Amino acid sequence: MTRSTFNTINQLLWKGCWKSSLALLVGLGAFCQPANAQSTTAVGVARASEGLIKRYDPKVRDVTLVVPAPAGTPTACKQDNKSTNGDWEAYYCTLDRNILISQKNLNLIERRYGLAAIATLVAHEFAHGRQHAIAGFMSDAVWSVVFDELQADCIAGVYMRRATPISLSPQQIEKSRDFLESIGDYSVQERSWHGTPGMRGAAFQFGYNKGSLNACWASSQRNWRKTLEDAPDQVDRAIENAPATIDNLIDRGQKFLEGL
Ligand SMILES: [Zn+2]
Repeated sequence: MTRSTFNTINQLLWKGCWKSSLALLVGLGAFCQPANAQSTTAVGVARASEGLIKRYDPKVRDVTLVVPAPAGTPTACKQDNKSTNGDWEAYYCTLDRNILISQKNLNLIERRYGLAAIATLVAHEFAHGRQHAIAGFMSDAVWSVVFDELQADCIAGVYMRRATPISLSPQQIEKSRDFLESIGDYSVQERSWHGTPGMRGAAFQFGYNKGSLNACWASSQRNWRKTLEDAPDQVDRAIENAPATIDNLIDRGQKFLEGL
């Protein structure tokens, strides 16, 4: 456990909370009554989640979570530092391996989806840190970020299952899924498409159910880059067939959208 996690948990304990696992921390709202209850508790859950995820996954121990990140927080990914932090409300910067999450974003998510969703958001951002450390991003090789985003949802499910010593309640899992579904979208032809709400919820649930980074294709032994290196013939065949596969996907996507 990191010093900051220990301190956070101590602070929460001092405020009358009596358990320290992530699953219980995300249920703290009912037990803790500090001044500024909403924001203080959300920040505490975010920091505690950071500590538990780092304890579980050595690959993200060098990632830093800045929370709450005030407007204008310096980041290597935004050189001017003049913008408000509205555009990195929850953001993983590959250049300095910092995650920035704004108070505004924490408040919004806590109000709508509860503290389980705060932990899920932190887990999703740390998942990007893991992708970065393991194989890099698929979006560097393919046109869309959708594979990285869905894989991060899957990894977040694994973190939520494995980084905490006890299971989340079915309601907490549902709230986490609801949150990810709320940030899904249908911009299937945009590079920034993050997956439909259904895809995002399903990827998270899959990761949670499997509880395995291998199942998310996010382990050292099993990841997209290793697949490329180990099976060049299959990859060549897939690339040859890619135009037909993409046409087929677009066709199916359009039929799906027409049916909405
Ligand atoms: Zn993401």
